Amino acid sequence: MDFKLISISRHRLTTDGEGVTSLVALAGCPLRCPLCINRELLALGKVHIVSPEKLLENVMKDYCYFVATGGGITFGGGEPLIQADAIIDFFKIRPEGININIETSMNVDIPDDKLKKICEETTMLIIDTKSTDPGLYKKYTGLENERVFKNLEKIKEFGFEDKCILRVPVIPKLKDKETALKEKEYLISKGFNNINVFPYIIRDYMDKEALNR
Ligand code: SF4
Repeated sequence: MDFKLISISRHRLTTDGEGVTSLVALAGCPLRCPLCINRELLALGKVHIVSPEKLLENVMKDYCYFVATGGGITFGGGEPLIQADAIIDFFKIRPEGININIETSMNVDIPDDKLKKICEETTMLIIDTKSTDPGLYKKYTGLENERVFKNLEKIKEFGFEDKCILRVPVIPKLKDKETALKEKEYLISKGFNNINVFPYIIRDYMDKEALNR
């Protein structure tokens, strides 16, 4: 299965996983977050169709950095898990010594066997939970968050919760720090201990009015 690829950002340091990483941005996302910094990625117009072999050839330029620093590739986007088949094909050909991380919202319809395979082969799953509150989640993303919890329950059932970093954002005008800390406690009660509360920062290039709509 080929990738629908937007871009590859090389030589990232400790921003999306251990060591030096290349961020492989995949196209498409079912969510519509107002503060999305990847809007251009969501427009499917500029997509490159790339085979797993071709992607490997490209990222191998940095193999020495990956091995020396314990780094590797981070699939992000967009929502990389809507391209789970291509990622699973990539697992089959990756050489030893390359870590693979995935940045995801987990709001994807993915069969259990594929989710399990993803968990087995991935070094770290970095999951942006947005909000555990269904109302806040829908207000911010436009979708329900039932699938997120269904997938988190499966990950726990498979025993891969320690591979997960659950990100709990403080969202301007929508969710304050106190609420985020309560959400953290809720996720701990669900069996996930690696939780990162952090603020979304509004940058100059973002649509500042989006949160008022
Ligand atoms: S999940 Fe990420 S890529 Fe998708 S809309 Fe939200 S911020 Fe953008």
